[in-house]
Amino acid sequence: MPTATHCPYCALQCAMNLSPGETTPGEADVAASASPAASAASLTVTGRAFPTNRGGLCKKGWTAAELLVSPDRILEPMVRQADGTFEPASWSDALDLVAAKLRVTRAEYGADAVGVFGGGGLTNEKAYQLGKFTRVALGSSRIDYNGRFCMSSAAAAGNRAFGLDRGLPFRVDELDTADTILILGSNVAQTMPPFIGHLEGARAAGGLVVIDPRRTATARLTDDGAGMHVQPTPGSDLVLLLGLTHIVIAEKLTDRSYLANRTTGFDAVRRSVSRWWPSRVQEQTGVPVWQLRELARRLAAGAARGAATGSGTYILTGRGVEQHADGTDTATSAINLSLVLGLVGTTHSGYGTLTGQGNGQGGREHGQKCDQLPGYRRINDPAARTHVAGVWGVDPDSLPGVGLPAVELLGALGEPGGIRCLLVHGSNIVVSAPNAERVRAALKTLDFLVVADFFFSDTAVLADVVLPVTQWAEEEGTMTSLEGRVIRRRLAVDAPEGIRSELWIWQEIARRLGSAGTFSSQASEVFDELCRASKGGLADYSGLSYALLDTEEPVFWPYPVGSTGTPRLFLDRFAHPDGLARLVVVEARRLGAPAQVGGTLTLITGRLLEHYQSGTQTRRVRELSDAQPEARLQLHPATAEQLGISDEAWVEVSNDRGTVRCRAQVSTDMRFDTVFLPFHFSGDQRANLLTDDETDPVSGMPEFKKTTVRVRALVKAGAN
Ligand code: SF4
Repeated sequence: MPTATHCPYCALQCAMNLSPGETTPGEADVAASASPAASAASLTVTGRAFPTNRGGLCKKGWTAAELLVSPDRILEPMVRQADGTFEPASWSDALDLVAAKLRVTRAEYGADAVGVFGGGGLTNEKAYQLGKFTRVALGSSRIDYNGRFCMSSAAAAGNRAFGLDRGLPFRVDELDTADTILILGSNVAQTMPPFIGHLEGARAAGGLVVIDPRRTATARLTDDGAGMHVQPTPGSDLVLLLGLTHIVIAEKLTDRSYLANRTTGFDAVRRSVSRWWPSRVQEQTGVPVWQLRELARRLAAGAARGAATGSGTYILTGRGVEQHADGTDTATSAINLSLVLGLVGTTHSGYGTLTGQGNGQGGREHGQKCDQLPGYRRINDPAARTHVAGVWGVDPDSLPGVGLPAVELLGALGEPGGIRCLLVHGSNIVVSAPNAERVRAALKTLDFLVVADFFFSDTAVLADVVLPVTQWAEEEGTMTSLEGRVIRRRLAVDAPEGIRSELWIWQEIARRLGSAGTFSSQASEVFDELCRASKGGLADYSGLSYALLDTEEPVFWPYPVGSTGTPRLFLDRFAHPDGLARLVVVEARRLGAPAQVGGTLTLITGRLLEHYQSGTQTRRVRELSDAQPEARLQLHPATAEQLGISDEAWVEVSNDRGTVRCRAQVSTDMRFDTVFLPFHFSGDQRANLLTDDETDPVSGMPEFKKTTVRVRALVKAGAN
């Protein structure tokens, strides 16, 4: 019998069946390598009918089973020796060593000298348990996770506007009938290909609008009358949104009844955007006035038609506009535009943000964040502390307070009063963190580094102890998709002997530390506890159970006891105490990129179809790595000619933080002033060697999407 489960990668969480004992793409050769892992896992992937993917998968999904049989898997704990090499160790010895180092560090420097870094790919059970483990077993406040680099700005904006952050507050398949869809800063055609099936209705109506400085695969979906591609100067998204809001208000295209009955703050926003008249916006963004006006009118007309026909306007944001040091304000500005058009909390239109990581939604709900307790509770809320401490069986006063957001946490590594010992779970920070070489150098100053992973990632190779952990198809659990749907991840194959779940690892370390509280290693027990801990919170899972999820009925949180779930949020009221949405005044403090000043270019980073996150997994899948084996710098032909760079030639991309060396990919998809690097690669091809660790003051999001670099040819054009 096939096992019904979901893809291990992105937040679309495409449904798939795993059938044992057959050949999966690329698996035959891997099995022939006689990896101990290969004999344990031989699975065929087939797509399964599900509202988000309708049986479709992208090539990452089709090839996902190859991860299970990779010859690169770590199959036993590895402990660094005095000469710097790794040697295998028993679980008992490895965990004894970890516990001893934790005890010494805490005794010498205090509990906050131990830090924990989690990941948005961890199951809900693991995300929850990691937060509890850090605060109860380690007594440390210093936990945060890689979702800080992903969804934090969108989440902060959603919280301040709506009082609640759920990526899509509606079902994905509600987009099918939309008249108009505006996508800002997301290349869904490559990052989650089955998603584009939900854009067909808008394309047929000529209403797909894509805002992206690059002519991406998603932007090309607007060709042939299907819609409009708007190509602003990188980093000018906030001004663009202020300008669109200005036009909607100036041309009296707002939904006045909606604004009066469902929102607050309109007058202040109206005044604040009044100075962003179209010609000024054109100056800053490079988007012509006619296109600004046409877009604003299209959005408003779609919204008006939606009120009559049920097929309205949707605005969707992605990391392209959120991964900025003003990302929260940019996302807030997109929400302001949505609110003046009357889109949010209706049955015909909507605003949402497209979560990226597999459990990027659930991973930000249950306590991995430095200021958070399960159920989206705030850790400095006395009532929240009392409730959660009661579930955990500990004294509320024993729980630490607010810790440090990710970039600050990494900045505290090895510093006086900072972190001496770090545990990393589900993250590869040496590749994914901004200013990556500084992070790598800081990790080397630690007294002790523990990394749990499937493979020797760029971060794991620096560790003192590496703990091999179970993968997606080797464990039970739940994930929460980009639309807030809680789904089951099911065990399809036993893990190779010697590999353990993080839940078991934390249970064992907590026991060795003599921790208060109990730490189950059973996912279903942890889920039941998570549901109790979330009860009464904004992300309330208290009515859920594995038995309910196994019925395969759609289950959207909030799902309190007695509920049937909430596919569409905010229909009656927003989550603020007065039930109203907030329009929030935001100012554009950082205007458009200084393009080509002094020979510099603006670097954008992003994803490729074939790879996921830091590439630790997908670079080990033959079909994916054959298609995209290395980083390539995309640049416009005119820019390439000016710099003496030919297609495939080696180039050096640098600034005062670092240098990347890779081949060039000359492409008319780029603007003259902009270059693009994917962030999936390691060594000296890490795009984040160049990015800045300046952060958004509200969300802690680093600046990933607007970096000034110099580019030069390493070999004269035509010489190779
Ligand atoms: Fe997996 Fe995302 Fe591809 Fe679907 S779109 S198969 S969830 S990587």
